[in-house]
Amino acid sequence: MSTFQPVRGMRDLLAADAETLSHVIDKSRETAELFGFAEVITPIVEPFELLNAKSGEEIRQRMFTFEDMGGRKVSLRPEFTASIARLATTSMKNEPKPLRVFSVGSVYRYDEPQKGRYREFWQANFELMGSNQPEADAEVILLANSVLKRAKLKDFRIKLGHVGVLRGILSQEGVEENTQNAVLQKMDKKEYEKAFELVDDSCRRVLSGMLELNGKDSSETVDNMRNYLKTYNKALSAVENLSSIAKLVNEGGCEIENVDPVFARGLEYYTGMIFELYVPQLEIALGGGGRYDKLIEVFGGQSTPAVGMAMGLDRVALALQSQNVVIKNDQRKRVIVIPIKDTQKSQALKIAQRLREADIPTEFEIMGRKMTKALEDANKRQLDYAVIVGERELANGKVTVKNLSKRTQTEIDIEKLAEKLS
Ligand code: AMP
Repeated sequence: MSTFQPVRGMRDLLAADAETLSHVIDKSRETAELFGFAEVITPIVEPFELLNAKSGEEIRQRMFTFEDMGGRKVSLRPEFTASIARLATTSMKNEPKPLRVFSVGSVYRYDEPQKGRYREFWQANFELMGSNQPEADAEVILLANSVLKRAKLKDFRIKLGHVGVLRGILSQEGVEENTQNAVLQKMDKKEYEKAFELVDDSCRRVLSGMLELNGKDSSETVDNMRNYLKTYNKALSAVENLSSIAKLVNEGGCEIENVDPVFARGLEYYTGMIFELYVPQLEIALGGGGRYDKLIEVFGGQSTPAVGMAMGLDRVALALQSQNVVIKNDQRKRVIVIPIKDTQKSQALKIAQRLREADIPTEFEIMGRKMTKALEDANKRQLDYAVIVGERELANGKVTVKNLSKRTQTEIDIEKLAEKLS
């Protein structure tokens, strides 16, 4: 009979990969707590209509959608924001603002699989609802920075932009919203020529001039944008907002190196600041987010300013591996308990349980192997100690402990065993 493989784009993560991903999940959760974000757990399957409401066209086309056995049209979540917006307009509606909400889990998109791009992947999602102040935007960027720092990632960079700049230009040039969305989508993919084809000559000139505004650092870029957009009121106020956010983030101890005047992100719901995170080892973004002041309204809630971000945890894990970051910090010794004969089995099991209660990772020999075979296997798997439970030692309240790397052995009182091994 043939064996089975995972579905295309889905992966099995074995020990080392699973450990790295778990580490990144832990760091996200830890950081959420440090910034006062409360964790919520929402379903993986959501009504199609909810997800359809305001995800970008691009994501909408890549959702896993099916009919359940009750005839409901449902989808696997392609991101968390819609689920959190659902909560904000229902069960969390009356909670005092600001709301700081964290979630982590797998999300699903029918993307073309390649390195760092999967159909099932993990996101840590942070939403901060109720503030329109630049401090809130800065807080979310500083949070992203902390997640990566705490995960021990090195050399990561933040790219910052503001959709209000491009939208400000487009609306002053009389471009209607659907075309604006299409232009931003093309610009997100750096398909500038295709984007500019969608607008008239004068608008095209302004947009293509935006490509020339990069300065030697972020504050010079912001100054260039300010000067260039003097006659575009809305775009100009977006630049001022961007400038105050960048200043706050810098003051918070996190340097913004790259302000990108033509930065756009695929999701249509952004209304303000947007950002993405990169490392030199990978071309794809590790995470990103931005401000979306209209989203809660779209879901039938009261107008609520909000800012959020999603970290792509598989990509952070990949980046850590490509930087050879050592993440294992569990210094505890690993032990195996081996009874010499059947008659010592129950005593040996009790000893194993006591070690586990003392937080010592302990395996129990369950293969019924002879001592030499069991020790050979423990050596091969680089365990630290073998606790050998034999009749003679037991009679004196002791066991034999082998240090497997040093190849030494001593007898130790059972009462003192946990203390000696920890
Ligand atoms: P988005 O929700 O599109 O803003 O994506 C947020 C983050 O999720 C991205 O920056 C990536 O790190 C990650 N991400 C998006 N799509 C994928 C994918 N197909 N595979 C792995 N990670 C992804």
